[in-house]
Amino acid sequence: MQIENSNLMIVLSSPSGAGKTTICRELLKFDKKLQMSVSATTRPKRPSEKDGVDYFFYSKKYFDDKLKNGEFLEHALVFDNFYGTPKDFVKKTLKSGYDVVFDIDWQGAKQLSKKVKEELISFFVLPPNKNELLKRLKTRNEDTEKIVNSRMNKAKSEMSHWNEYDYVIINDNLNSCVREILEIIKVERKKRFRQNWLENFIKSLV
Ligand code: 5GP
Repeated sequence: MQIENSNLMIVLSSPSGAGKTTICRELLKFDKKLQMSVSATTRPKRPSEKDGVDYFFYSKKYFDDKLKNGEFLEHALVFDNFYGTPKDFVKKTLKSGYDVVFDIDWQGAKQLSKKVKEELISFFVLPPNKNELLKRLKTRNEDTEKIVNSRMNKAKSEMSHWNEYDYVIINDNLNSCVREILEIIKVERKKRFRQNWLENFIKSLV
């Protein structure tokens, strides 16, 4: 019997420094049905990042052309740079049978929720307390102090969108935070309307 479930689109948003990138990495390690959506951005590449893996690094002109061609599923201006989710990449990944994880901000989450209904689950990840948020922002060495300060100011406004998400998770312990998200995904997959195979299965029983 072929078990076919409809594919999920899983959004993870958080203020910078809440540990979202690490969480995403762990999620993919433990759930082999998950794949990251690789966004496009106009921001400069950080030394540790790889083009086509962490982001597709585009010039502003190239990004604009893609935007005009309707090639993004959603896009937003975040910290003075443009970010967008390439449609094709997501379509292909979903078609290959994966559930796609999106590390995008609240603006992108809002746009996706308008376009996608039943397939979407959204998580907002919070740091455990203010000190931890400050510490995590400061220990990310790749960014200049100016960027860190600007992110700190934005954290407050980003967090004001917490109540637009399905689930709010506090990252006070990486392992338990990842486990919680994995459990929720597992349960969401079990929802009746996501299990396309059920109708045929019932038919085969009677
Ligand atoms: P960073 O430059 O630190 O990697 O990401 C900055 C912010 O941009 C993060 O909050 C991240 O979630 C968000 N972001 C990354 N890719 C996208 C995208 O494709 N769309 C939107 N709307 N936000 C994104």
